[in-house]
Amino acid sequence: MSSSLEYTKERQLELWGNYNKILSQINSISEENNISRSIKLLPVTKFKPASDIKALYDLGLREFGENYVQELLIKSELLPKDIKWHFIGGLQSNKPKDLKIIKNLTVETIDSLKKAKKLNESRIELTDIYLQINVSNEDQKYGISLNNLNELDEIIEFIIKSCQFLNLKGLMCIGSISQSQISNDINPDFEKLQNLQSILNSKYQINLQLSMGMSSDFKQAIKQGTSLIRIGTDIFGSRP
Ligand SMILES: *Cc1c(COP(=O)(O)O)cnc(C)c1O
Repeated sequence: MSSSLEYTKERQLELWGNYNKILSQINSISEENNISRSIKLLPVTKFKPASDIKALYDLGLREFGENYVQELLIKSELLPKDIKWHFIGGLQSNKPKDLKIIKNLTVETIDSLKKAKKLNESRIELTDIYLQINVSNEDQKYGISLNNLNELDEIIEFIIKSCQFLNLKGLMCIGSISQSQISNDINPDFEKLQNLQSILNSKYQINLQLSMGMSSDFKQAIKQGTSLIRIGTDIFGSRP
C-alpha cells in the first residue's frame, strides 16, 4: 500500500460518481417502498489505498469501514483523525486491545462474551457496537449462531449491565452469496436478522438497528429493514 494520500481528480470523480449512484438508488428504493427510516451508506475500503479514502474525505465523507486490524492502524495513522472508523472484519479475541488508539470507533463484529469484555476493557470512550449474527450457517467462522440464542442473551445482558464503554447499536450480518443472487425475492438471511431484531427490541425494550447489505444484495436489504449498508466493490471496484 502506498503511503501517499495523493489522488487524481479522475479517481476522485469516479469514486464520487459511484458513491452518489448508490445514494440515489437508496433514495429511489426508499420512495418506491415507502421507507422513511434513514439509511447510512458506509464505504468499505479494505485493500484500497488510503488515497481513495482521502479523495472521498475531501468531499466531506467521514465514515469508512475496514476489515483488518493492521490495515486499519496504518490507515488511521496516515489519515485525518476525525474519521469515524467501522471495524467490520473478523476480530480475534486478542485484538481489541490493538484498536485502543483508534478514536471514533464502531465495532460491528462482536460475537462472543469474551470479545465484548476485552473490547470494553480496552476502550476509554463510548464505542458503538453491533453483534454479528451467523444467519446463513454457512461455514462462516464468525457470528453468533442462531442455534445459540442463550449465548446471545448472555452477551446482551452483559453489555447492557456491565460494559461502561460499549453502546449496543444493533445487529450485523453477512448474507450468503447464493441468496444474494436470487434478486427481487425475500432474502431469508435478512429475514432472520429482522425477526431477531424485533424479538430482542421488545424483550429488552431497546432499539437495535440492522447493518446488512453489501454490493450484491443491498437493494434487498433496504427493503428488509437495514439502516446501514456496507459497500466496497460498487464504489471502489473489485479487489485483488
Ligand atoms: C468486504 C465487505 C463488505 C463490502 O463488500 P462488497 O461486496 O465489496 O460491497 C461489506 N461487509 C463486510 C463485512 C465485508 O467484509
